[in-house]
Amino acid sequence: MKKCPLCEKDTTTLHRRSHLLPEWMYSEVYDSRHKLINVKVDRRHVNKKQKGYYETIICETCEIESQVYDRYGSLILGNKNAQAPEVASIVVAQRSGHTSTGDQHYSHWQNVDFCKLQKFVYACVLRSHLAEQKEGNYLLVDKHFKRMRELYRNPQCKDDSTYPVQVVKFIDADTTKNLIYLPFRNKIDGHSVVEFAGGGYMFRVFVSSHRKPSHVTEVMLNASGSLYMLHFSIKDVGTFKSTLPVLVELAKKFPDP
Ligand SMILES: [Zn+2]
Repeated sequence: MKKCPLCEKDTTTLHRRSHLLPEWMYSEVYDSRHKLINVKVDRRHVNKKQKGYYETIICETCEIESQVYDRYGSLILGNKNAQAPEVASIVVAQRSGHTSTGDQHYSHWQNVDFCKLQKFVYACVLRSHLAEQKEGNYLLVDKHFKRMRELYRNPQCKDDSTYPVQVVKFIDADTTKNLIYLPFRNKIDGHSVVEFAGGGYMFRVFVSSHRKPSHVTEVMLNASGSLYMLHFSIKDVGTFKSTLPVLVELAKKFPDP
């Protein structure tokens, strides 16, 4: 008997090939030049990987459940089926605001299924954390892993602020759709974050115990289903640090969700 590290239930077998990031984020990579980027958690190595999409980490039940969230992410972000009810119910308003670095475009999403999108992002982080753990590394310190796992397993999704989720959209789809960053640890303004990118989007989860800055809580995926998404060129994002000053400025101007 094994114990699934996600649901903590006993199982005879773990799912053999769990994606660290879901398939839809890789789809463009498969038929173009390989640009999977694995930023090792100690951040001393950034290497292009040919393998490492899959790991044996969670049980069949957890795998099937996480596929539901992966599918939701694919539907609303992967732009595969505009007729799907999950997509049709979302209202997206394109906006722009003036900052010291120029006009910043962003979109305000409403009626997002908070529960599914949050669980999609957390599942990517938790799976990757468990894969790192097999190699003696980690993405989350133990107390944050346990707390995020608890939030992930909780069917009542109301907590948007313990580990806030930010999403950035890359505007240069041609060059970014085949770019994948596996989740890695980063520091933003003294706050620990886990970041990953794929399918033309960058995701950032704040994992510190500190109070989150107001510019984070204003743009984060909100339990009400509201989300502010900044639109950036990959050139301006670098290792994503440059998003911060723009966020600080722009957050002051966001209308109330
Ligand atoms: Zn499980």
